Amino acid sequence: MVKWLVRIGGGLILVLGLLFWWLMLSSSNAAKTAPGVFDLADWRSKASAPPDMLPTSIRILEVGRDTAPPFAAQAGRFGAPVAMSYNAVEITYPNRTIVIGGAVDRTTAEGMALSKSEWRFSDPAYDALTTAMLSAEQVLMTHEHLDHVMAIARHPDPAALAQNLVLNAPQIDALPLFANGALDPALTTLQPGLTGAVDSIAPGVVIVPAAGHTAGSQMVFITLQNGEEILLIGDIVWNMGAIESLKTRPVLTQYMVFRPNYEDRDAIKQQVRALYDLIQDNSEMHVLPAHDRDWLMTAAETDGIEFLAAN
Ligand SMILES: [Zn+2]
Ligand SMILES: [Zn+2]
Repeated sequence: MVKWLVRIGGGLILVLGLLFWWLMLSSSNAAKTAPGVFDLADWRSKASAPPDMLPTSIRILEVGRDTAPPFAAQAGRFGAPVAMSYNAVEITYPNRTIVIGGAVDRTTAEGMALSKSEWRFSDPAYDALTTAMLSAEQVLMTHEHLDHVMAIARHPDPAALAQNLVLNAPQIDALPLFANGALDPALTTLQPGLTGAVDSIAPGVVIVPAAGHTAGSQMVFITLQNGEEILLIGDIVWNMGAIESLKTRPVLTQYMVFRPNYEDRDAIKQQVRALYDLIQDNSEMHVLPAHDRDWLMTAAETDGIEFLAAN
């Protein structure tokens, strides 16, 4: 009897151990190499413009914040929670702006809340963002996940917003998923404003398609007047620690959080390696994951990068 109990107990521990390994640690190493995945020289040539035509700054417009368990953000990471920011980015020229990101509305942010003590949402910041989207020359997003699309899908003035939207085809296809009820008619007849190729949309601003996290994921490469280079990478990783340690999010997050929009993990593994290599060779470039709050706040110590916190 005791022998059987020991065997069953041992079997259970083995099964749980395997499950832990699969969910938390497996299939999470970046690719060994990723030649040709990203082409910085191409971005730079497409971003180039006379200095007085380039943007002067970016402003990270935070609408909410939270913390996430470290093991969910980065496979094999344990310890302190990861501070998460929910935001959009405004690219500022002397006479116009471009907004990247739809961020998240209050209803959705409340539904996603993880930490009772750290969660915040700022209604004034959200209102300021939806207003900024109307005065912007163009409004884009990094990708079509709910925490990046709500201020577009649920914008208070969709007819006016629709004039400014520059989305790619998978992003347009995803919009109805996030409407509160039926999507406003102004948002059901959008035509893609992006071709899916690496392309400049304004002086100093280049869109770099990077399908993987979602089908419509893209990065934004920005060159400022003061020479600073910024790369918005959306959710390729949630925190820079993942790139620094060449790790992706764990399988657990893929199945628990992104259901049913599973990531293309192989594409992410390539992109994490490509970003790692890019940073090795260009350490002065500001690579900004959408959610890494601590990293964004540190980046904002640079001239030309501003972080407006939602407190
Ligand atoms: Zn995402
Ligand atoms: Zn996100």
